[in-house]
Amino acid sequence: MANVKEKVAYLQGLTRGLNVNEHSAEGKLLVQMVDVLHHMAEEIDCLHTGQEDLENYVETLDEDLTDLEEEMYEDIEDEDDLEMVEVECPSCHDVVAFESDLLEDDDAVEITCPNCGEVVYDNILELSDDDEVELVQRRDIHPGV
Ligand SMILES: [Zn+2]
Repeated sequence: MANVKEKVAYLQGLTRGLNVNEHSAEGKLLVQMVDVLHHMAEEIDCLHTGQEDLENYVETLDEDLTDLEEEMYEDIEDEDDLEMVEVECPSCHDVVAFESDLLEDDDAVEITCPNCGEVVYDNILELSDDDEVELVQRRDIHPGV
């Protein structure tokens, strides 16, 4: 905003240089107007400084928030990694542990017992079982269809 201040300073110099004074009505008005411009330029300069301080402050806050987020998400990811599900093998009754996020996997997941090789969890098998049960029930409700 130095530009506006410089321009107003130039106008102030010009007023004096052209010998514009308060002896005439127009001169009085011009001197007052340049004075108002001077105060406006000061005010804008003040606002500009305040705005810069605020921008720096917000930037610092944003950086701190980013650090905090990274730290938090790291902790959450660590917890996710440690979350395990335990299933007892139906064959040898060994406890088989696997990561819980495998349960939400959309792809085919088959967990076998490391002891005897029996399947302890299969998301595809569970889905097809449900479909069959549903089909049988429909036939029972509408025997003629
Ligand atoms: Zn087993």
